[in-house]
Amino acid sequence: MNNPYVTIVIPCYNEEDVLEDTLQQLGQLLENMIEDSMVAPASDLLFVDDGSKDNTWDILEMSKYSFVKGLKLTRNSGHQNALYAGLMAAKDQADCVISIDADLQDDINAIPKMIEKYMLGNEIVYGVRSKRDTDTFFKRTTALGFYRFMNKIGIDLVENHADFRLMSSRALHELSNYKEQNLFLRGLVPLIGLPSSTVAYERKERKAGESKYPLKKMLSFAFDGITSFSVAPIRLVTMIGLLSVILSSAAGLYALTQKFLGHTESGWTSLIISIWLIGGLQLLGIGLLGEYIGKIFTEVKRRPKYAIEIDKYTKKNTVFPSVHLEGTRND
Ligand code: UDP
Ligand code: MG
Repeated sequence: MNNPYVTIVIPCYNEEDVLEDTLQQLGQLLENMIEDSMVAPASDLLFVDDGSKDNTWDILEMSKYSFVKGLKLTRNSGHQNALYAGLMAAKDQADCVISIDADLQDDINAIPKMIEKYMLGNEIVYGVRSKRDTDTFFKRTTALGFYRFMNKIGIDLVENHADFRLMSSRALHELSNYKEQNLFLRGLVPLIGLPSSTVAYERKERKAGESKYPLKKMLSFAFDGITSFSVAPIRLVTMIGLLSVILSSAAGLYALTQKFLGHTESGWTSLIISIWLIGGLQLLGIGLLGEYIGKIFTEVKRRPKYAIEIDKYTKKNTVFPSVHLEGTRND
């Protein structure tokens, strides 16, 4: 096999604080890899600007490296959609694509190792964190609990793997066949089932700027992951409902015999507790059903997951405003 055309995809949302450093580091790495003939000379970096409101796009345009390319989305579409936009743009052009976050918390020295594993015939190579020392205790324990829970309810996740991975063009074409709207890439990719491998690395702290995943977003991401892949929560609610029906029938029978035996109870406590309990369970059940119906609602619309404003990668959808103006001028 010849040395592969590698595209590194980096989603960026308001990353002006880290971007220059990221450009520098990834640029240097790519230069070295091209020099060592590890990757094809055409290899490039594809930054996806996810509707940033700061200078992210300008910094990209001013880069000194010719292999820095950009895809500008019309608006903020979210990390998963921005990443997906990059992957889909690259799938017909590159031999393999590596995705990494703009803050370079993931160790870029794992990239050459990923390419080595790819050359050995793996279509997907997962970057896996060997330690999570740099994460807060809270993030570490909640993340671990999440992976355990997901595995329990039958969702296959690669433990301690986020979105730092290599995918071959073939794997990306398979991925493009998954038409769902609610993207949870780290759940989808293992479903593809092509030969895969892992590379271990140590995750660093974010150097500058702040996390774009505050607790609220993290929770909604986790909840999305669960409800996009499993109906286990619905089953759980059904089971709880069934159990409470059985229990309350038994309690009802007990109450009736007590009544006929003449031991009339004041009964207020048991009554009020059951009202609250049943009411709560019903609400829980309805809410959960609503969640899935909501999913169906967004899925059936088949809305595009993102729109590209400027494409400086494939140049297929290029809509440079200047070109438009010149084309319509008549004088
Ligand atoms: N990101 C994005 N769109 C968003 C939010 C985040 O493209 O709406 C990008 C962000 O620029 C970064 C990556 O997704 O490259 C991961 O975000 P972050 O590092 O803030 O998440 P954390 O590492 O804290 O989980
Ligand atoms: Mg980060």
